[in-house]
Amino acid sequence: MRYSSFFIPSLKEDPKEAVLKSHKLLLRAGYVRQLSGGIYTYLPLGLKSLRKLEEVIRKEMNIAGAVELSMPFVQPLDIWRESGRDEDYGKELLRFKDRQDRDFCLAPTYEEVVTDLVKKNIKSYKELPLTLYQIHLKFRDEMRPRFGLMRAKEFIMKDAYSFDTNEIGLDESYKKMKHAYENIFKKLGFDFKFIKAEAGEIGGNYSEELMVFSEYGEDKIVICENCGYAASIDEASSVSDYKGPLESCRQPRMTKLFTPDRKSVEAVGEYLKVDRTCFAKTLIYETESGFIAALVRGDREMNERKLKKAAGVKNLFLAKEEDVERITGAPCGFAGPFNLKDINIIAIDDEINNSEYWITGANEKDAHMANVKPGRDFTPDIVADIRSVQAGDKCIKCSGTLTVKNAIELGHIFKLGEKYSSILNAKFLDEKGESRFFVMGCYGIGVGRTLQTLIEVFSDDNGINLPVSVSPFDIAVVNLNVNDEKITSVAEKIYTDLTAMGIDAIYDDRKLSAGIKLKDIDLIGIPFKIVVGNRTIKDNIFELSTKKNNTTETFDNLDSLYKRAEELLK
Ligand SMILES: [Zn+2]
Repeated sequence: MRYSSFFIPSLKEDPKEAVLKSHKLLLRAGYVRQLSGGIYTYLPLGLKSLRKLEEVIRKEMNIAGAVELSMPFVQPLDIWRESGRDEDYGKELLRFKDRQDRDFCLAPTYEEVVTDLVKKNIKSYKELPLTLYQIHLKFRDEMRPRFGLMRAKEFIMKDAYSFDTNEIGLDESYKKMKHAYENIFKKLGFDFKFIKAEAGEIGGNYSEELMVFSEYGEDKIVICENCGYAASIDEASSVSDYKGPLESCRQPRMTKLFTPDRKSVEAVGEYLKVDRTCFAKTLIYETESGFIAALVRGDREMNERKLKKAAGVKNLFLAKEEDVERITGAPCGFAGPFNLKDINIIAIDDEINNSEYWITGANEKDAHMANVKPGRDFTPDIVADIRSVQAGDKCIKCSGTLTVKNAIELGHIFKLGEKYSSILNAKFLDEKGESRFFVMGCYGIGVGRTLQTLIEVFSDDNGINLPVSVSPFDIAVVNLNVNDEKITSVAEKIYTDLTAMGIDAIYDDRKLSAGIKLKDIDLIGIPFKIVVGNRTIKDNIFELSTKKNNTTETFDNLDSLYKRAEELLK
């Protein structure tokens, strides 16, 4: 491909709307353009990369025995009403009507359609197991689309669905898919881990998320390097071996302290000259069954998911300021667990229960209490693990030290069992001629998101650095001076020869300065480049550079240059 006739609208400056490095690079290097919030055009360069990434995925899907098909992006809403997910998906499901006033939606996922398809076309156990997949569009009307392809409304996903006769078969299909995922993400060079997850809207009885570690990931994963324990921050637990506040926080009895205008744990701690770990902070939540007061140590985060579970509530929000003031009888920032009005449950973290020297708010303006003891000074209704694990905590399995890493979810695999087949009445005949529900699994990979994550993880200061299997071109031939006939004829020959060898080359034949051209080639992320300039002609030297490790090899003839290029591309 000639650069001059390709379409690569690269940008000199970082676009203002992008926060993530990868989002900036996608826009700057001319991979994508946003049409509307969370809706993107893949430009030729981005599309080439996307297609190559799809091929990496497709290959492993086929090896695992999955069969590709393509299902409709526009789906009748009836099938969603039948499964009951019309409601579950809420506003993320984009609904509309056709000219005959029938309800339709844009597919956010395809369980309904694939189950209906198999129900109508597979009759016997003899035709099972079967795994179908597609690499296709999905649409979720995200409230806050952001970070480019990471959280887009319209996006490309690989979704696969397995159909088995029983749970043992499902386990087998699940294992095969998991193995395929491991191959794909290893091949792409990612540092990743499967984490047991909650099933969410898709449902089912078991699911795991494939998490790729990256500094800017939105998810937090707790890891024990010692025993391999890994869990999402929502689910992770640590050992509560906390022995109570520091000596400096201890007071003989419950004592009121004057803390003028100090509201946050930090401010009060600074004023009293005590550590944040001496505090038990009291948060007031509103739920569908009234207000809850919940306490965790001052330096910790409340884990609202755990608190919901412990309190047996579905909805949980921090209470409004006026409610907090009414409940505590004091301005916000001075809440403590005593004499609260209108509170149904007091929940405390088990760590709080282990000590008696806590500093809490006094439910009084400009005052805190020291030496507060649960059970003596107030009565908790629930004692449970409601804190988020933080780095340095002890592992629940081996007491090793836990670390917390940011990660990006790129895949999610589910054992669905009979969830969809039973709702949609999808059955086959078993060996005995009896009618039974299909036992299903489903398996997703965010393809666009994976492409952006590759850029996030592997780019450098000068630009994108994709692995060869996914980079839009294998090699760039850069003509440093198109006005020089000799240089041009050598550059043209190299480009033509490489193309004839089946190498996907881009030839930079633009009438621009050498500096601009080399910068662009670096930015768009071509793994290898051959530069043709004065030196090539004068000294008969051919240079082949590798972007990843910033090295250059030289050759005195074209045959050895080509041979090396072929080697590197393997
Ligand atoms: Zn451990």
